[in-house]
Parts: sequence; C-alpha cells; structure tokens
Amino acid sequence: MSITNHIKDLPRSARAPAKRPTRAEAEAAVRVLLAWTGENPSREGLRQTPARVVEAYEEFFSGYNSDPISWLDDAESDMSGGYDDIILLKGIRVQSFCEHHLTPFEGSAHLAYLPDKKVVGLSRLVRVVETCARRLQTQEALTEQIIQSINTGLAPRGCALIIEAEHQCMSFRGIKQSGIKTVTSKYCGEFDTDAALRQRFAALTS
Ligand SMILES: [Zn+2]
Repeated sequence: MSITNHIKDLPRSARAPAKRPTRAEAEAAVRVLLAWTGENPSREGLRQTPARVVEAYEEFFSGYNSDPISWLDDAESDMSGGYDDIILLKGIRVQSFCEHHLTPFEGSAHLAYLPDKKVVGLSRLVRVVETCARRLQTQEALTEQIIQSINTGLAPRGCALIIEAEHQCMSFRGIKQSGIKTVTSKYCGEFDTDAALRQRFAALTS
C-alpha cells in the first residue's frame, strides 16, 4: 500500500472502527475516565465536562474530515510569474496529538518546495500541514504525511520539511523534561539529491 493511500485510508479504514460511536457513547467514555482518576463525574464542576471534552475532540481531530491533498487541487501553472526557485513557508504553527498518549505536541514547521508545473496559494500549504496535524500520529509519521501530500498534490521538483516540536508526553509525564525539542526532517527530489540546495534551505530556515 502506498503512503498516499495510507493517508487517504487513515480516517475511515486504517484507524477508525467500522461503526463510529455516538456522541452519547463518547461522553460516557469520558465519564468513565473521570471516575478512573478518582473523581466524581456527577459533581457540579464536572457535569458538563464530558460534553466539552467531546466537543474539543471534534476540533482537535478535525483532520479526519478532509483529505490533505484536496487542498492542492486548484494548483495552477501560471501563478508563479516565471518564478521557479525555492518557495518556503517558515514557522508554520503545528499543533498535534501523540498517538501513544493522546497528549499534545506543539511547535513549528518549515515547508519548502521547488515548483515544477504547479504552484499553489500559500495558505493551501498551511492547510495541508493543519489537516495532517489534526489527526493522531507520531511526529515522524506527520512529517512523512505532509511531504507525501505535497509530492502527490503538486508533483514538485523537490520538497523539504523540518518540524520541531515539544511533546507533552515528555514534559508532563514519563521523564518530565520540558524544553526538549524533537526535530524531524525530510527531503525529496532535488532537495534530496542536491546538497547545495539543501544548504540553502538550511540557511533560509536557521
Ligand atoms: Zn507520546
């Protein structure tokens, strides 16, 4: 199975159960977790919490409702005015959730591509990052998904991505170390084969 198919399959078949639970069932599950902590889910302050948590989950994981590649559908060939060098978005905010602990990780991404025939509106690239991030995965998988989406949607001469993020599963639990940045990177096409180009990317993002 190609990674592209994997991305498309993620929401429905690869991860989601055959039948999605109802909102009431999801809220009941939150009440179980609250009770598990030793809390009384029926006390005044917690009565609305399950509904709020389920609503927040809808927002946190809204990426399952769209295909990241679809943001690149209206890429055009005549948008660049002849520009064919690195297009870089520096410092895209990344907010995602670790699939191992359901805890957030947050940081930024630097995403570049070398256009071939297709150039896309800059905000569309941010949408791709956002859609991939608003799902459960690891930072490694997120890096891969974004790059594969750009490759599939734009077929560029090359693309490059660096993500650096801080994971709450390391700062709030386990080793309890804050301030550690996890850095992942991926280079495709000319960014992979041309060391000088990669150096320019590094200089532009540092
Ligand atoms: Zn984790």
